[in-house]
This record gives sequence, structure tokens and C-alpha cells, in this order.
Amino acid sequence: MSKHVVIVGGGIVGCMTAMELVDRGHRVTIVERNQIASQTSGESSWAGGGIVFPLLPWMYSEPVNALTQFGAEKYRQICERLECETNLPTGFHQSGFLILPNFDSQLALSWCEQYQVEVESVKASQFEGISSQDENALWLPKVCQIRPPYLMQALRLWLEQHQVTLLENTELSPLQELGELKEWKTLDGRTISADQFIVTSGAWSFQLLKDVASQLSIKPMRGQILLYQPKNNLNQIVYKDGFYMIPRPDGYLLAGSTLEDVGFDSSTTEQVRVELAAKAEAIMPALKGMPIIKHWSGLRPGTPENLPTISAHPTIKNLYLNTGHFRYGLTMAPASAKLISDLIDGNKPFIDADPYKL
Ligand SMILES: Cc1cc2nc3c(=O)[nH]c(=O)nc-3n(C[C@H](O)[C@H](O)[C@H](O)COP(=O)(O)OP(=O)(O)OC[C@H]3O[C@@H](n4cnc5c(N)ncnc54)[C@H](O)[C@@H]3O)c2cc1C
Repeated sequence: MSKHVVIVGGGIVGCMTAMELVDRGHRVTIVERNQIASQTSGESSWAGGGIVFPLLPWMYSEPVNALTQFGAEKYRQICERLECETNLPTGFHQSGFLILPNFDSQLALSWCEQYQVEVESVKASQFEGISSQDENALWLPKVCQIRPPYLMQALRLWLEQHQVTLLENTELSPLQELGELKEWKTLDGRTISADQFIVTSGAWSFQLLKDVASQLSIKPMRGQILLYQPKNNLNQIVYKDGFYMIPRPDGYLLAGSTLEDVGFDSSTTEQVRVELAAKAEAIMPALKGMPIIKHWSGLRPGTPENLPTISAHPTIKNLYLNTGHFRYGLTMAPASAKLISDLIDGNKPFIDADPYKL
């Protein structure tokens, strides 16, 4: 049965959830306090690097992998559809992923076998542009990337084309305890009604729900990224010791990122600029003396073990949560959208829903 679903927050998780619900025949409204597909105060989706894969997936639990591996497989199809139906680019590109030591190679190889991820043990010197002489690197040729601002713009247009109402510059007030949610007040005193509400408010979710979901453990974790435009770019994503570089097909190169517990402060800092530049130059010496074209940050919805909450609220009828995707919200969004939609529709969830319960 078709329902009117209001989604609170227009980042990647909110927009991907809206797309899934539209496909299932629901009427959807997204309420966003700023503008969808832009960055005003640290929204994470715009700021992300766009690797459609976790950094060291063997470090995560099975429930995290269930979401990321679904996304890693689905993105090609989603992006082809978005590009075909909107005529906008998404930046989807299979660039492969080179992982330089240190990592547990035995664990890595057995994880790749378990998840059927193509992998090769390689010498770093086989790859152009990087200084590393590491003998024990890993090459994952099938790993892809998207370009977050492009993907968000394509999603936004697709949602408009499919009659999704975008209520922008509209901020919902923190929710008070109640038995059933039929309407929700905005900060400027308006009332939004719906059959169901889904909170996809990223790092701000706890602020919105703390009176009704005190057990929700989400806090902002800032990430900063630098942008270069080298003369000769890398051909693949490169990762080493928590730091990565992502080459874009049009010649740009991202270098990031940080994991900073600094509250809702989305500024960039000189200290991080220097640190990230030093790490980038150590891997790619040609960057020495090259200008940094841009430096930005985003606030990830940080959660313990990177495990999001994808769940009906245990006591408030009509309230659902789809939030807390921390480092991998871009990658996880397709699976997360499907799971929350299964719960809304009362279908058997396509994966075990228990690990994500509030
Ligand atoms: C530097 C960096 C690099 C990253 N790289 C990757 C990567 O390579 N791969 C990957 O998979 N993930 C990556 N991520 C993580 C990913 O970006 C996030 O997990 C994801 O964007 C979270 O999406 P979201 O929709 O939950 O949050 P957001 O994009 O932050 O969206 C939440 C939205 O809710 C709105 N909102 C909040 N409160 C209210 C309210 N009261 N009323 C109305 N609207 C409200 C906000 O304005 C915001 O637009 C990266 C993140 C960062 C910061």
C-alpha cells in the first residue's frame, strides 16, 4: 500500500532512501534544513572521497560488510540509471585500489576469498607515480569510485523528476517523547504530516532524537581532504596507513583524510593541511611544490564499530531511523535504503535486520 513517507535529512542516505521508496510506489517528501546536493555546515555526503569500498574491509564486522559489499556491487547499475535518466554525470569510475603495507595480508586475502573480491599480491613498483618500493602490496582492480557532489546533483534531479517534494531550508525540531508520530514541528513553527518518518540526519541525528532515543550513539567525526591537480595523475586509488589518494578521471587528486573528534566544528586547519600534504608527498613525490587547489571538511555521523542504526523506533509508532553510517555512508546507502524500505513495507528484510536495531 502506498504511503506518504517524510525523510528528515537530504544527504546520500536520505536521497538514496527516497529513490528506493519511489521505486516501491510511495509518495516521498525530504525535509532538509539547508540545500540538497550542496554543503553549508559540514554535511558529510558532499564532502566524502567517494570510494565505493571500505578502506580495510577485513577490519569490520559481518553486519558492516553486508552493507558495504551490497553497495560496492550495486553502484555501477545505480549510476548508469541516474546518468541515463538525468543526463548528469555521477563520476562513477572503476579505478582499482592499491593497498600498501602495513596490513595483515593473510587476513586480507582470506577476506577477499570469502567475499569473492578480486585481489592480487603485487609490488608497489609496478605502479607509476608512487615512490613506494613495498614488495607486499595488494591490488583490488574492481574497486570503483563516485564523485559525491556529482552523484548528489544527479540524485536530486532524479528525485525532482519523480515528484519527490524537496522541502529545503526547513529544519525539524528535536522530537519529544510520544506514542505515535503523526506530525512533526519545524523550527519556524510549521507542522509536517506523514504516514511514516525516517530520520536520515547524519551527524545531527542524536541532537534531533536525544529525548526519545538516548541509547543512540552518534557523534560528528570531522574529516579533512586536500585537492591537487598534478601534471601526471595516479591511475588508481592508493591507501597507506589510514591515508588515501583518489585520482579523478579529469586530472584532480584528493588526499585525505582525518578522523577528528571536535564536535560540530566543520572548519579546516593549517596543521592538518601540512600533515596531509606531507603524507601525500611521501607517496607521490611529484606533488612537492604543487599548489593545493582546495581544502575542505565534512562531519561524518560517527558510530561505534561503524555500525549504523537502521530500525523502527521501539516505542514510537511511525518513526524509523536510518543513520550513523560513519566512514562508509556513500558505500552503504543502497543497502541501507533497501533495508529500511523493507521495514517500512513490512516485508521480510533482505538481510538480517537485528544487528542494526535501535
Ligand atoms: C572526508 C570524508 C571522506 C569520506 N569518504 C567516504 C568514502 O570514500 N566512501 C564512503 O562510502 N563514505 C565516505 N565518507 C562518509 C560518508 O560521506 C558519510 O557516511 C555519509 O555522507 C553520511 O550520509 P548522511 O546522509 O547520513 O549524512 P549527511 O550527508 O551529513 O546528511 C545529513 C543531512 O541531514 C540534514 N539535517 C540535519 N539535521 C536536520 C534537521 N533537524 N532537519 C532537517 N535536516 C537536517 C543535514 O543538513 C544534512 O544535509 C566520507 C566522509 C568524509 C567527511
